Amino acid sequence: MAASLCGARGVRLTTLRREVLELLWKIGRPTGAYALIEALERRNSRPIAPPTVYRALDFLMSQGFVSKIESHNAYVPCAHPERRHDCLFFICRDCGASVELEDTRLEQRLAQDAAGLGFRITRRVVEVQGICASCTAADPA
Ligand SMILES: [Zn+2]
Ligand SMILES: [Zn+2]
Repeated sequence: MAASLCGARGVRLTTLRREVLELLWKIGRPTGAYALIEALERRNSRPIAPPTVYRALDFLMSQGFVSKIESHNAYVPCAHPERRHDCLFFICRDCGASVELEDTRLEQRLAQDAAGLGFRITRRVVEVQGICASCTAADPA
């Protein structure tokens, strides 16, 4: 999907950009840049300059393919890059898994609140931290 979106938008999904995105999907939880770099190096069996990975992440964020979870300083793939939306992530503090949901009511509320303040929103990433269902089941206390 990312490749066809890039084609439609006239931007290029380079090999590194694609690899970073694929890795994030494979890992399936918020991942820091250094862990990504290490995983890429293992996968390609060669060193990778960190700035190239940061640039790839910037590109992926600018296209809406990836969101940054500021509190974890980590990156997570966005489930709906084809259109602009608020990314709403539920993140488990025990296992680190994240789930992205869409909540148009929340988006509307935030848009209204911002309008009331005369505040122009440029980017919205909402993160909710807690304990996921499987961690709760594993440790009910
Ligand atoms: Zn999203
Ligand atoms: Zn969990």
